[in-house]
Amino acid sequence: MSNAKIPYKIYLKEDELPKQWYNVRADMKKKPAPLLNPVTKKPVTAQELSSVFCEELVKQELDDITPYIDIPQEIIEFYKMYRPAPLIRAYCLEKKLGTPAKIYYKFEGNNTSGSHKLNSAIAQAYYAKKQGLKGVTTETGAGQWGTALSMACSYFDLDCQVYMVKVSYEQKPFRREVMRTYGASVTPSPSETTNVGRKILKQFPDTDGSLGCAISEAVESAQTQSGYRYVLGSVLSQVLLHQTVIGLETKTAMDKYNIKPDIIIGCAGGGSNLGGLISPFMGEKLRGEADYRFIAVEPASCPSLTRGKYVYDFCDTGQVCPLQKMYTLGSGFMPAANHAGGLRYHGMSSVLSELYDQGLMEAVSVEQTSVFAAAEQFARVEGILPAPESSHAIKVAIDEAMKCKETGEEKTILFGLTGTGYFDMYAYEKFHNGVMTDYIPSDDEINNALKNIPVME
Ligand SMILES: *Cc1c(COP(=O)(O)O)cnc(C)c1O
Repeated sequence: MSNAKIPYKIYLKEDELPKQWYNVRADMKKKPAPLLNPVTKKPVTAQELSSVFCEELVKQELDDITPYIDIPQEIIEFYKMYRPAPLIRAYCLEKKLGTPAKIYYKFEGNNTSGSHKLNSAIAQAYYAKKQGLKGVTTETGAGQWGTALSMACSYFDLDCQVYMVKVSYEQKPFRREVMRTYGASVTPSPSETTNVGRKILKQFPDTDGSLGCAISEAVESAQTQSGYRYVLGSVLSQVLLHQTVIGLETKTAMDKYNIKPDIIIGCAGGGSNLGGLISPFMGEKLRGEADYRFIAVEPASCPSLTRGKYVYDFCDTGQVCPLQKMYTLGSGFMPAANHAGGLRYHGMSSVLSELYDQGLMEAVSVEQTSVFAAAEQFARVEGILPAPESSHAIKVAIDEAMKCKETGEEKTILFGLTGTGYFDMYAYEKFHNGVMTDYIPSDDEINNALKNIPVME
């Protein structure tokens, strides 16, 4: 097939769906640092984690050595409803840019949740059900994760309780109603329903809420109800593992046509889609079988990799979750109020943080007006209305393609198109009306937030 013209869309067959997730940690010589108990500062044990997370997911979280982990058949059956996801050759974008580069994107927006998050939501709901739990609690920012989880929970008949960052709860009523359509209960965070919520409200009565705070509330709520566990849609290594279906499918599709990407680009919030996309390729790089350039793209207003510190930090504002060594801006860091493009978590996956620290991956930060300009450029030629998060990757893919135009190099660029932006039209509106601004935090602001990282002996 190697000489065939590459189609616009490379679809795999149902039986080409990955049957195992790939755990890139197994091929890392230097592993990500272990999660620590926030009180004792000793590595957390499986037993400690099991009071918060489902047992099977704890195993996956702590497993640094097993390269391939079977995907249970029940999850594969669910994946079949919306996967394999297409790998698309951006012929129209290439033509519009006049670049000799070949651009491909893996589109994960083809399900009701509108993003890749369903890949992990269904896995986490499955393991909760298998353990005989009544339900799960979680947080959601913009709402994609909450939506994905409510879909997954309704499939397995589990109760789903979502703490939604207050400002999104108010500004994104549609996403909230999608969650309720799937049977989830949605509480604006901070709320009066938890100790940590009440404490934060007392200190900051007018707060808009934050992801870190909603995480603390969801964790507390799971721990105070019997038969409940907490689940998280990004950052954790288990989530990155589930998201490797993205990269594995991409690799299978590319191998069919002998396509080898030179540059692989993804947006990075907590790092799950990027980690999932690059894992199989990174595995080859780690084993010395092939070489690729990997680029993480983050917002200039929330630049954890490019301007954060690589230290142990709290994953949540309430400081109840295990400590994770990661590139972080400090758990109290809040992106400026005008930030509209998502990817607002203060930290980063420990796997990606370690790979970045070892120089195996690059990172760049981009300003939001340039992200929305890229989103619009993309939508007009490729048709898909991209999520603002995904558009960070589009922006850098276009930048790299334009460099190829200057040098005449025919590089192959692959990027992850994580989702659609139908519920983000408020942000698009600001962009179209010319009232969207860029904000880059000062060194002082970042250093201030970093003052609250935990003291380690
Ligand atoms: C959540 C989300 C992201 C960022 O999360 P990661 O864990 O960094 O992948 C990116 N794109 C979309 C559409 C999302 O919903």
